[in-house]
Amino acid sequence: MSFSNLGLSDPILKAIKEQGYTEPTPIQKQSIPIILTKKDVLAGAQTGTGKTAGFTLPLLQRMRERKTKGKPYVRALILTPTRELAAQVGESVSTYGKYLPFKSAVIFGGVGINPQKAAIRKGLDILTATPGRLLDLVNQDCLDLSRVEFFVLDEADRMLDMGFIHDIKKVLALLPKHRQNLLFSATFSDEIKKLADGLLNKPTLIEV
Ligand code: AMP
Repeated sequence: MSFSNLGLSDPILKAIKEQGYTEPTPIQKQSIPIILTKKDVLAGAQTGTGKTAGFTLPLLQRMRERKTKGKPYVRALILTPTRELAAQVGESVSTYGKYLPFKSAVIFGGVGINPQKAAIRKGLDILTATPGRLLDLVNQDCLDLSRVEFFVLDEADRMLDMGFIHDIKKVLALLPKHRQNLLFSATFSDEIKKLADGLLNKPTLIEV
């Protein structure tokens, strides 16, 4: 199976080709078609399996489906536990989306907040963030998450290990009811299952 059979459009396929990827990884073969059907997904996948492209590629494709008119607003929110991972995921979004017109940004703590506010003011379609700084920006009335269509919780087990459960719940309360949700985790403790039960609507399970 090649990338061209998975339902991704030419600008995305071109970017993938430039990365030198010849074949989708096992998780990508499973996750890309399912995510394109707008279903919620619960995925068990370690780093190194290609999971990031497994959700960013179909996310970019899904966002092509309806053009936004006027100023962009946050349509896709990706939450990650650490700034390193946020930067890495944001980099993937930029790389795979280089031939698409979306605006994206990465926000995390430990650096100045003003450049992040400026990026938000310019308008964003895709936002990758760590929970604490995201909530700071919401609390300062800088960020509106009420129209998010696509929500990804990446490395959910690490999020819980780092004590982010309350922040995650606060973020979820800001999102609209109708949206697609993806949860990625390397392990499935009872706590993760509980979080998944509350977050996901009839999810398709993917394990690699
Ligand atoms: P991840 O598991 O998302 O952290 O990805 C691990 C590494 O695999 C990253 O450096 C990606 O650039 C690379 N990668 C992702 N998908 C593919 C693919 N289909 N073919 C070759 N490399 C890939």
